[in-house]
Amino acid sequence: MKAYMKLGAAALLSAMAVTACGCNKPATRPTGGNVTSIVINSSNGSPNSAGGSSSANASEPKDTTITADKTVKSGEMLTIKKGETLYINNGAELTVEGKIDCAKGGAIKIQSGGALLLNGEIKLDGDMELGGKLGIREKGAIEGKGTLKVLNLFSDIDCEGLCTAKIKAPKPVEKDGLTTVGGVLIVNKKYSVPEDYGDGLVIDEAYDKLLEMREDTGYPLALASGFRSYETQRELFEYYCSIDDYDSVVMYSAQPGHSEHQTGLAMDLGEVSEWYAETDEGAWLAANCHEYGFIIRYPADGTDKTGYDYEPWHVRYLGKSTAKLVRDSGLTLEEFLGVEAE
Ligand SMILES: [Zn+2]
Repeated sequence: MKAYMKLGAAALLSAMAVTACGCNKPATRPTGGNVTSIVINSSNGSPNSAGGSSSANASEPKDTTITADKTVKSGEMLTIKKGETLYINNGAELTVEGKIDCAKGGAIKIQSGGALLLNGEIKLDGDMELGGKLGIREKGAIEGKGTLKVLNLFSDIDCEGLCTAKIKAPKPVEKDGLTTVGGVLIVNKKYSVPEDYGDGLVIDEAYDKLLEMREDTGYPLALASGFRSYETQRELFEYYCSIDDYDSVVMYSAQPGHSEHQTGLAMDLGEVSEWYAETDEGAWLAANCHEYGFIIRYPADGTDKTGYDYEPWHVRYLGKSTAKLVRDSGLTLEEFLGVEAE
């Protein structure tokens, strides 16, 4: 998965290099506030650029297929009306410096091997289907009432900008006793990992990010607990059950095989106490951990969605882009992935 993410980033970078050269020269007029609507249709080889809209065939929906690299320049707008689809084919990259307006009933389909790089804006009231790659650069934004449907992996999205469109996750995949959704491993009261899974597992990428957080902030962010084996979790759960009643225990401790700590992707940082959120360090963690690829896994208002009480100390590593998408969605991981908690 790590290699895959690197590949994705490299592909996006090389795609950026392709389009970084000849773009920002306005062909007709400078960007003075007015937007030029454009029609791209590389499938019939007649790119059409027109300022005024003629009413002759405006009512007839027409699909657009991108088969070679194209750019919607700054100040330009590509409109996708109801019933129309914009296809970005295998091997083609569409760079958007300007704007795409995708109306309700319209669609953008990034096919496998295709890519969309966004520095501008997409107003998405229709649907976007992601089979290829989507790069949302720092100034890029996807907003609207539409849905971004991820067909394969969340790591197909490299999001540095903003995405407030609803994200629809692919179906859960079960393999070797592990359940992943779009490449994200899910462990909760419903989904478990095998007894022998992990064994001292340290995810280098996650641990490196912890070190980076410490270095950047100066907060100690003490690692109270990282990887926990099935056996350790069993002992812990049984211990809690010996000092507390079962119904309470299950709200803060996982059954063996159901602890996210067995994945090596979860960490308890700082102070294992609800007061941690009130400390400067805890508040910093909540506000910034997504920048390092983590989410607060069991938020204060998420108990009925996650099955656990608020744990301001427990973070889960997802990688920067996916952590940002989850945070921007305002959802718990279960809601974001569309899976049940128990
Ligand atoms: Zn924990």
